[in-house]
Amino acid sequence: MQAQLAAQLPAHPELVLVTDLDGTLLAGPSPWRRWLYRWLVRERHRIIHVFSTGRDLRSVARVLAAEPELGLAAPHLVISDVGCTVACGLSLELLPLAVDPIEARWRGLPERLLPQLALIPGVASQPVTADRRLAYDVDVEALDCSLLRELEAHGVDCLVSGGRYLDVLPAGVNKGSTLMALLAWLEVAPERVLTAGDSLNDLAMFETGLASVMMAASEPELVAQLPRLPATYQARAEGCQGIVEGLHHFGFTALLEGRPCDRPSGPSQSLAQELASGARGVR
Ligand SMILES: [Mg+2]
Repeated sequence: MQAQLAAQLPAHPELVLVTDLDGTLLAGPSPWRRWLYRWLVRERHRIIHVFSTGRDLRSVARVLAAEPELGLAAPHLVISDVGCTVACGLSLELLPLAVDPIEARWRGLPERLLPQLALIPGVASQPVTADRRLAYDVDVEALDCSLLRELEAHGVDCLVSGGRYLDVLPAGVNKGSTLMALLAWLEVAPERVLTAGDSLNDLAMFETGLASVMMAASEPELVAQLPRLPATYQARAEGCQGIVEGLHHFGFTALLEGRPCDRPSGPSQSLAQELASGARGVR
């Protein structure tokens, strides 16, 4: 995998932090954002940082160009297009190892699906983006979900999230499946992984059973899934503050404090609560 990446991967990663962008890594109080972004830069030799987003690569590039004032650096890897694209975080060049199999599953589908999607009430006339998926703005009030189920017979999954986005994805491809493929290539133990997100397109990551943190202000339909997600912790805080709370909860406190973290020390409810109550702060 390193051969296909410009970003240098840590030789012995102590954590793989997989963060959604909107409502997650790009959210929360500015002091917490600044602190987390700086920490990610400082510990870059110990942590593999992965963006996992519904945005396309062009949009990820715009985020990276806009955020340096708060100190957000490029991650090692980017999963974009809700799992349909994988790229080097530094160069934003595609990773053929991960993308080629998804491309093969997608071939021929857009030609078949575009005319049908154009007829579904509530779906915008043109897709917003079309890299190994079709992404649309939708009016959920007007949307007939039974028509989406019919579409799925063609070998796709239809995912409505955020109350206004529709993603038509190659069947079985999502943020969770693509992350699991990446982790297999990275050969990282599952207990060293933490995912974070806030909307229904993050559900597939939470369903992997990897330690996960759901943001405080998550999409209600995602929160409703919590009872069947035993490895997912719902933070009391939002955005970057919620991510830090989740890292404490899952035993990564030593890593947060810059100390060696041979293995995560297990859930720490008290520290997470202290953080949520504001007893611990950042400057
Ligand atoms: Mg989000």
